[in-house]
Amino acid sequence: MTTKTQKIAILGAAESGVGAAILATQQGFDVWVSDYSQIQPKHKECLNKYNINWEEGNHSEEAILDAHLVMKSPGIPENADIIQKIRKKGIAVVSEIEFASRYTDAFIIAITGSNGKTTATSLTYKILKDAGLNVGVAGNIGVSFAQQVATQQFDYYVLEVSSFQLDDIDSFKPNISVLLNITPDHLDRYDYKFENYLAAKFKITQNQNDDNLFIYCQDDKSIASSLITKKIHAQSIPFTLENEVGEGAYLQNNELTINLKKKVFTMSINEIGIKGKHNIYNSMAASIVARAVDIKKESIRESLADFKNLEHRMEKVLKIGGVEFINDSKATNVNSTWYALESIQNPVVWIAGGVDKGNDYEVLKSLVRAKVHTVICLGNDSRNLHEAFSHQTDLMINVHDMKEAVRIANHFANKGDAVLLSPACASFDLFENYEDRGNQFKESVRNL
Ligand code: ADP
Repeated sequence: MTTKTQKIAILGAAESGVGAAILATQQGFDVWVSDYSQIQPKHKECLNKYNINWEEGNHSEEAILDAHLVMKSPGIPENADIIQKIRKKGIAVVSEIEFASRYTDAFIIAITGSNGKTTATSLTYKILKDAGLNVGVAGNIGVSFAQQVATQQFDYYVLEVSSFQLDDIDSFKPNISVLLNITPDHLDRYDYKFENYLAAKFKITQNQNDDNLFIYCQDDKSIASSLITKKIHAQSIPFTLENEVGEGAYLQNNELTINLKKKVFTMSINEIGIKGKHNIYNSMAASIVARAVDIKKESIRESLADFKNLEHRMEKVLKIGGVEFINDSKATNVNSTWYALESIQNPVVWIAGGVDKGNDYEVLKSLVRAKVHTVICLGNDSRNLHEAFSHQTDLMINVHDMKEAVRIANHFANKGDAVLLSPACASFDLFENYEDRGNQFKESVRNL
């Protein structure tokens, strides 16, 4: 008996789409890649190398609606015309992590949250790799999960998983899932309903069973209240800065303490390479994972001490005339900026602003009042910043490019101050992306 070749349509030809196409080809699918925008030359080259059929600037409905399975890139919203048609026809739609996970037996650690995913994923990966495990890292980091499944033989994967990737899972079942925090973000993709976004994040646990672990932040109010009603089948392990827990992670006399499998691991928080409350949470999550896969305490300690902040996340740029310049361009929402301001002890000149996705600045007010003497508003529209902070700080100045922002910040900063770029907003009004914004900041600081 011959089985008919399965057809897969892959929508979106960036990192995850191209990776999925390579894996699908390897698995014997008849593959059609379609991108409504232009495909980057490096991705075209890769598709051609594997003899994969593709189109750009168009979605050929006939070819797409003829598929048995559709892989949708995370950037494509549910309300896109083509997705509506695919749904109407009843074709199964999967995300790249769902698709790739069907073809690997590796031990999967999946990390999600509104903020801290890249940091916690990179830190967890480092601890496992330093300890000698055969481990890969994927998600928004580096080469796609699907391509690695096609071309590598890792025993473990640490995956950074966004809510968009979780929207279209079906059987994805991580051995360990981590939920760092949930604060309003990307609500435009969730009908402006926080509960829909919350539900997407919790999908990370949906296929787990009691052999698996679910590691979560107990101090996060949205997570804690969801857990009252949600049924989680995995063993749930909390981490917290607010009290002591039995199994899990907590602080005791400034010592990060992990209690797992009846063994206790401790480390002074002063020895951890990355600073701030948020990074204690990230370190707790990563250390619980590490203990769960039996990494030795000494090895975890060394990796935690050695890990450096990633670029554009509370990255120290330079100290000039006693003023410290810090690049936190990746802070694209209010919550991440809260942690940035919270972690700085010195007076602050704060560079903020950009595309405000309906921010509620209320939570930042007391920190700004206590620490910030000058706010530099960088962006095309700074009305919301002025409305929120004009009574909380001494001085607010509008600027329209980074060079000017840095020059003015430097002018108003006193010896011992910090100049912090932590915009709490997206970057698309004046910059290509957050990396471009952070790089322009660093360059302007170096040219002072
Ligand atoms: P993500 O990948 O989820 O966007 P990143 O690790 O890139 O997260 O960090 C994004 C921003 O959030 C940075 O400004 C960083 O300093 C801040 N951040 C990192 N970890 C946390 C956390 N656990 N809670 C809140 N903010 C965090």
